[in-house]
Amino acid sequence: MITVNEALKKILMNVDDLNHETVNLNSSLGRVASHDVKSNLNLPQNNLSSMDGYAIKYKDAIVINNNPSSIVGESSAGKPFEGNLGKSECIKISTGAVLPINADCIILKEKAIIKDSKIVSCNQNLKKNKYIRFKGLNIKIGDIIIKKNTKITTRDIGITASTNQRNIKAYKKPIISVLSTGNELSTVGQKLNRSQIISSNSFMLQSLINSLGGKCNDLGIARDDQNSLKNKILKSKGSDILLTTGGISIGDHDLVKSTLIDLGLKVVFWKIAMRPGKPILYGKLKKMSVLCFPGNPVSTFVSSIIYLIPLINKLQNISYKTPIKEAIISKDMERNDEREDYIRAKLSFLKNNEIIAEPFPKQDSSMTKILANSQGLIIRKRFANAIKAGSKVLVIPFVHINQSL
Ligand code: AMP
Ligand code: MG
Repeated sequence: MITVNEALKKILMNVDDLNHETVNLNSSLGRVASHDVKSNLNLPQNNLSSMDGYAIKYKDAIVINNNPSSIVGESSAGKPFEGNLGKSECIKISTGAVLPINADCIILKEKAIIKDSKIVSCNQNLKKNKYIRFKGLNIKIGDIIIKKNTKITTRDIGITASTNQRNIKAYKKPIISVLSTGNELSTVGQKLNRSQIISSNSFMLQSLINSLGGKCNDLGIARDDQNSLKNKILKSKGSDILLTTGGISIGDHDLVKSTLIDLGLKVVFWKIAMRPGKPILYGKLKKMSVLCFPGNPVSTFVSSIIYLIPLINKLQNISYKTPIKEAIISKDMERNDEREDYIRAKLSFLKNNEIIAEPFPKQDSSMTKILANSQGLIIRKRFANAIKAGSKVLVIPFVHINQSL
């Protein structure tokens, strides 16, 4: 059995870059930029006023109490004043409107005293260039507005649109084929006989994959026989990852490994020193990464946190590390054996940033209600010593990975 860290290293090795495609801005949220996005505009394109008032030359403004300034026109947003200001001339200007080339001062609307279309005085501490947004203040031609290998946010979409670009280049979504295996499995909505269970893994995995920016190709359910498995596995062709659940242990009906080997799988490892998730298989079928998780939904979920989420992020060039925090354990814990343990726990987040971790007393990997009620996993390293309540432990808080986990 290899350790969790060794297994993760091997899974993340030899991952090829995804190709890229052009994506309309409107459907780019959450996609990963495959290139730097640069601006080919200055924003603003011209010097603008940031206030409602009057645009004037500073040298005319400071003598305005002796030399009134004639208001010779107006520049409003979208309707600039064409031309330059002459001596002792000014124009009315609104917020966001273009400044005449030779204006370098703004008299605020509420500070100007107007008589017969002239500003006759103003009681403002006048400053050259104040209340002016200069050309390129916000963004200059060539500025990078979205960095390569980052997830596109709503703010990125807004800023890209403001630079008059409709599309961006993003990595193609990684395609993950999901195959559930087991004679006992049925799909949601069917009448169940007493020996059947719903293949809930398919639903959990599909939503997880979508939330990570992947595209799920649900291959449905394969029976525990080689023909059924082969037929379904062949449908994963062209995917970046084939993910199977169930049928990977040492039982007589666990045929996933032998079937994959018949189809040419190069096994990288089988079995990891962890609990839950021991019989995990990883290998390559040509360029496709093949991950086989045990069928218990808790094992599938924990294995997904430790291996699948990092792999999908790596495929998209997103820098990601499973978030691990320190917490205070609420109960005594026994010495651990040779398998790294992932224990479902209630996490309380205190105001002083401390986390209290309370392990659920029952950890059977079929108990999904406990999983649903937990906020994270306590990690117990291999051969960890017994500890007393109040000691420090490491935890993986689910909210730190993804709000929708
Ligand atoms: P296996 O790994 O095939 O030995 O399955 C372990 C346990 O997980 C069994 O109790 C299965 O019924 C259950 N199981 C297997 N596949 C699924 C699935 N897709 N959804 C929910 N439970 C499953
Ligand atoms: Mg099975």
